[in-house]
Amino acid sequence: MQDCIFCKIVKKELPAFIFYEDEFVIGFLDINPLTEGHTLVVPKAHYESIFDIDEEALQKIISVSQKISKRIKEALRVEGVNLINASGVVAGQSVPHFHFHIIPRKAGDEINLASWWRSKVKEVDKEKLKELAEKLKT
Ligand SMILES: [Zn+2]
Repeated sequence: MQDCIFCKIVKKELPAFIFYEDEFVIGFLDINPLTEGHTLVVPKAHYESIFDIDEEALQKIISVSQKISKRIKEALRVEGVNLINASGVVAGQSVPHFHFHIIPRKAGDEINLASWWRSKVKEVDKEKLKELAEKLKT
């Protein structure tokens, strides 16, 4: 896509700190990191989101995300990572080219994702969950 910032990074028309590249996927450092080593994993082909990405491309991205996560764990001595994808503007997607964030995590890093999560969960009735599971069956 012509005006897509990630397509331009893939084509090396924009600079980025790329540290992983294969035929289908690149991995580069987020210039606005949440933690040290915050990485974006991006397919070379343009897909907008989880809703339109090719299944094979998605499998490759997942596999590369595992490789990069292991490398980050080893090289930066982190204890964990969060993998985050936002699909859709309402979900917080700001670049309309599919990507995973890999966010390296260490104890006391002040991201506090788990406490934020706990503060947002809703009480829900079991009957409602049963209905919802029925509705979502494929
Ligand atoms: Zn793109």
